[in-house]
Amino acid sequence: MIDVAIVGAGPAGAWAAYSLATRGARVTLIDPSHPREKPCGGGVTGRALALIAPRLAERGVPRCCIQRARFVDSPTGRSASVRLEQRAVEAQPDLIVASRTQFDAALLAAARQAGADIRESRVTDVVGENGGFRIETRAGVLHAARVIGADGANSLVRRRVARSFRRDQLSIATGFFARGVSSDEIVIEFVADPPGYIWSFPRPDHLAIGICAQADAGIGADTLRQVTSAWIEKTGLARGARLQPYSWPIPSLSARDFDDLELAGPRWCLVGDAAGLVDPITREGIFFALASGQWAAEAMAAESDLTMYASRVRDEAIAELAHAARLRSSFFTPAFLALLVDALQQSESVRAVMADLVAGRQPYATLKWRLLRTFEVGLAWRYLARALQI
Ligand SMILES: Cc1cc2nc3c(=O)[nH]c(=O)nc-3n(C[C@H](O)[C@H](O)[C@H](O)COP(=O)(O)OP(=O)(O)OC[C@H]3O[C@@H](n4cnc5c(N)ncnc54)[C@H](O)[C@@H]3O)c2cc1C
Repeated sequence: MIDVAIVGAGPAGAWAAYSLATRGARVTLIDPSHPREKPCGGGVTGRALALIAPRLAERGVPRCCIQRARFVDSPTGRSASVRLEQRAVEAQPDLIVASRTQFDAALLAAARQAGADIRESRVTDVVGENGGFRIETRAGVLHAARVIGADGANSLVRRRVARSFRRDQLSIATGFFARGVSSDEIVIEFVADPPGYIWSFPRPDHLAIGICAQADAGIGADTLRQVTSAWIEKTGLARGARLQPYSWPIPSLSARDFDDLELAGPRWCLVGDAAGLVDPITREGIFFALASGQWAAEAMAAESDLTMYASRVRDEAIAELAHAARLRSSFFTPAFLALLVDALQQSESVRAVMADLVAGRQPYATLKWRLLRTFEVGLAWRYLARALQI
């Protein structure tokens, strides 16, 4: 029997496997999909890079270091650019964007080099047995003392040890990879319908362009794709590019969902998207995938009770994510977003707050108070900050 079986080798699973293997555990990581491009912006914030930078550097993952984030208010067409730092969190840039084929492959290679056993197979069932788990795969059966579910938003492990996400707990992201064009700025255009934004994230040889909406909002992937196509046409950002469509779910939980989240049992835990750990405003999930993978590995390697892992996730991630969920409905309103773009145009201090938010440095808990301190843009801005009822 192996010590730990990890189902899914995205950032959460690969980083958990690396962290366990370097601590001497016998760990098997199971995923049939690599190499593959996961539908994703591929934006990796400074705080995520701070966890993995040496392993990434060893493998020279191609990346775009983002110089600017341009925010556009769709109804008025007004826009503002925010300059991002190239050396910010623990000497990491604020934001890089990489292809998930290459980013995930680098983490997988680090896990393999650290001693993790990698099985290229799909897990078809996970069954509790004799104080451990039987892991059924298309290539045979494994027995493990503990299991980590790192198998994404549609997690099979979650279905077996807890409950799958309901439709209202997911959003659907739809868009295109635009092959053959690139840039050094991300573009975020706030739209009223569906409430949220369209993004363009540049990788070295293509753009990842997308939009997302709550899965129960009554807007299908086809409609979302048409909105994105019209935006690509309007902006001319992807002129001459070959467009490759994608669509994928993202956990998108409410504050109450975060309070009730099932994260761990005596011999299992969930990490990354399988655990629901995605920022409901920015949709940043890679940092939470890496951090939760590392916390799970640390708890398992210390032979500690896995409820300790769950407590750590609650303290270090969920408090923050629940804040974002409470803020979401006030954030994505046309009045707030129009004022936000105005304030970004006028105020260096507001631009600094936004740069920190993009880099994952600005906690939501102190966002309102930091915005309120930026008095120089006047009454409208104070009204706006007060509108964030958190
Ligand atoms: C369109 C879109 C844009 C996004 N943009 C960003 C962004 O710019 N920045 C950011 O930080 N986050 C972004 N996210 C979120 C981010 O993609 C996820 O939060 C992150 O990938 C989670 O990592 P993970 O390892 O938990 O899961 P995943 O990356 O989804 O990996 C899960 C793995 O499990 C494997 N798997 C699934 N089922 C099985 C099975 N039965 N057996 C074996 N293996 C299995 C899959 O093959 C996959 O490799 C975006 C998401 C989407 C959909």
